Amino acid sequence: MKTKASETGDRRDVSRKKAEKFRQYAVDYLDAKKSVPTGFDLAPTFEKRKELIKAKFGASEEDWLNWKWQLSNRFSDVSALEQIFSLSAKQKEDFSRIQAEFRWAFTPYFASLMDHEDESCPVRKQMLPDIREMAMTGVADFSGEEYSSPVENLVRWYPDRVAVHVTNVCAGFCRHCLRRRKIGEVDKATPKDNIGEILDYLRANPEIRDVLLTGGDPFTFSTEKLDELLSALDEIEHIEIKRIGSRAPIVLPQRVDEELCEMLSKHHPLFVNVQVNHPKELTADSARALDLLSRAGIPLHNQSVLMRGINDSPVIIKALGHELLKVRVRPYYLYHCQGTIGIEHFRTPVETGIEILEELRGYTTGLGIPSYIITPPGFGKTPLGPEYQISSGDGYVLLRNWEGIVYRYENPRPVD
Ligand SMILES: *Cc1c(COP(=O)(O)O)cnc(C)c1O
Repeated sequence: MKTKASETGDRRDVSRKKAEKFRQYAVDYLDAKKSVPTGFDLAPTFEKRKELIKAKFGASEEDWLNWKWQLSNRFSDVSALEQIFSLSAKQKEDFSRIQAEFRWAFTPYFASLMDHEDESCPVRKQMLPDIREMAMTGVADFSGEEYSSPVENLVRWYPDRVAVHVTNVCAGFCRHCLRRRKIGEVDKATPKDNIGEILDYLRANPEIRDVLLTGGDPFTFSTEKLDELLSALDEIEHIEIKRIGSRAPIVLPQRVDEELCEMLSKHHPLFVNVQVNHPKELTADSARALDLLSRAGIPLHNQSVLMRGINDSPVIIKALGHELLKVRVRPYYLYHCQGTIGIEHFRTPVETGIEILEELRGYTTGLGIPSYIITPPGFGKTPLGPEYQISSGDGYVLLRNWEGIVYRYENPRPVD
């Protein structure tokens, strides 16, 4: 088919108009994004706070880089906290009160990412207790894990995969934790005989091809102990893939070293899912940890929790997706915040997540868009999102594109 020069000109004209419209969408976003600094942007501030915290603890650089030092020096009581954060007398009293009900702790490293004055800091809000927790609305086991545990600490919601809670230890106890009922008062790994029962269950159920190790945080285990557990799973022939859910690369990036990665790379296919909720959590340190894991051949995905006042805006979630892709982590899930006890103040209406996805699809790559997930009690994960099919009729479906342009799409009938 030949095209006349004038037609080519028309097409170019139409294309240029459209391109200008697309450019404008991007410009609007880039403007809005200026209000969402990443951890990389804030590096000099973080560095200053790190030095301040080290001085208060009398810690050396070597201590700081040692994950065991980070873990055993977690901020976990008011007296340590008030040396660094500006707290009112009321806050100090509140924090002690909350501690009696819901334990809190976080690494000195993560404290260096928090604004010590500004309470609206998205990193601080995830870790510092809030008196609204004491409203005690919600339920301890919202997702009904305890009614889905054929064996203690193994949760089965699905035909082919299970989640196993291997410890209650975490580098930081997120305020929004859905398993805060399991945190308890002291750090405790799942007992050996319980792990034995779990392995027996896995051996006896050959349809289970996918085991997700979670917690707590499995990366709080020693390298040897994690190696042992992964080896036991490797020996079960029907387990095709293993996954680890860990926030350590973000809250305790010092944990991820060559030795850990070398061990992990012996257990492929192994996937790691991390949790980043705001671009401010991505720093040179977490990027280094994620890079090491990637180089060990581990595909990385991110699971975020949608939280009011932390990341409940399209600009933040979009910027987060972009920052994650830059460190080779794919956004996987964006969870609607569950009705777990004491976290009501973080919850958004269900619609918020759908509206956010509406502003992502098309405006950025599908690689940077998570699935939005609701977890109703006892029923596993349910994806929700904007609808792109408006209706259907005989031989067609009526669709809209990401900008809202409606079109009729012929529905092919099978031909012989
Ligand atoms: C989230 C979860 C899984 C894994 O779900 P995917 O959709 O495969 O990532 C498996 N079991 C339980 C109990 C879970 O909570």
